[in-house]
Amino acid sequence: MDSRFPELDALYREVVLDHYRKPRGRKDLSDPDVENQGLNPVCGDEVRVALKMKDGHIQDAAIQSRGCAISVASGSMLAEHLIGKTGPEVERLLEAFRGMLHGREVPEGVDLGDLEALEGVRHLPVRVKCALLAWTTLRDALRTFDESGAHRPSSPSTTEHTALPPPVPPE
Ligand code: ZN
Repeated sequence: MDSRFPELDALYREVVLDHYRKPRGRKDLSDPDVENQGLNPVCGDEVRVALKMKDGHIQDAAIQSRGCAISVASGSMLAEHLIGKTGPEVERLLEAFRGMLHGREVPEGVDLGDLEALEGVRHLPVRVKCALLAWTTLRDALRTFDESGAHRPSSPSTTEHTALPPPVPPE
């Protein structure tokens, strides 16, 4: 029996490790419409996301992660959710997932699928950043695409930035 992540239920642990060993969405996407990189300096996790968009919907997605099992598995689970979704739909899913990691109920009508296997991560506050890295990196890319039509955000995403409230503008 794998002794990693004793906080995760045995069945859920298998789901997480399956995604870690065979990450979904790990591929090259040529000529993506939007892309971004993310870094979680606390753990050393890295992720690259690339999307093909069509009429505001995600048509194809590539997520390449390097790091701990939780970050890689979470990125893989994210990849399973993306095709056909819009930016706001991805944001809604992210909020439900983030809420679950902070001990809140998953809102009615939201199906997290395999992501529920990461529920035990809420007992490991430092790993919550690992679980959210691919998501916030993708969200930043989608927002940039929506708001400015840019191909990628001006700087990579890091969990250090996303974990803090936005800076207060000078008076
Ligand atoms: Zn990590």
